[in-house]
Amino acid sequence: MSETINKLTPEDFGQNFDPTLFSDWKKSVEAHEKAGLVNIVLYLIGFVALVSLKDIVGLVLFFGFAFVGLGISIPKRNKRKRFERELRISNSDLKAAIAKSRDRPKQATVSTDKVKETPEPATTAKKCQRCNKTVLTRNEFASELNEMGMRIDASGNITADGAFKGYGALQDAQARVAKMEGDKAIQCKSCGNVYCVDCLAKHAPRHRTSGGKACFSCGGSLQEI
Ligand SMILES: [Zn+2]
Ligand SMILES: [Zn+2]
Repeated sequence: MSETINKLTPEDFGQNFDPTLFSDWKKSVEAHEKAGLVNIVLYLIGFVALVSLKDIVGLVLFFGFAFVGLGISIPKRNKRKRFERELRISNSDLKAAIAKSRDRPKQATVSTDKVKETPEPATTAKKCQRCNKTVLTRNEFASELNEMGMRIDASGNITADGAFKGYGALQDAQARVAKMEGDKAIQCKSCGNVYCVDCLAKHAPRHRTSGGKACFSCGGSLQEI
């Protein structure tokens, strides 16, 4: 139930509520509902006492528990009613708003499905299958360098377009490039698994014939992508 209340927006009521008041009202509804549940539990305990003791003690306990339950829920109910008066929400308004919000999730799920579909091509960002960090393909590596005002030539030499503003900037750039080198994407020619340079440098097994690094999964040979 409080899930239902939580979903409600002022638009469901067709009104512009004060956001603080609206969220206070939601909290008060939740508190009232919780108190209602506690109330039911207390009634049940009282009822069990009444049935099992079958005497005046049971009766006293039954009314005692019922009283405590009411003592808990009535103030919560009053608080909720106070907010509803301030917001001018009637019971029928609430019902209508809940009905409206029930129609909404269907559209919302449709749109989230769409949202899920669209980023898929965008999430071509590859991850290392061993450590799960995002790896950089050759193109991504080059464009990241470009953003930093640097270039990489065909033989892999990195040059800066302009001068760095001081030694600190140069050091920062060098550190970043070093990290990027470790993030480079390497793919297995046999199974297609992708790994980062760091993982391969530190942990990869030797390739049976070439003696170079081999795929963690199938032992195949690797290539930069
Ligand atoms: Zn890795
Ligand atoms: Zn492999």
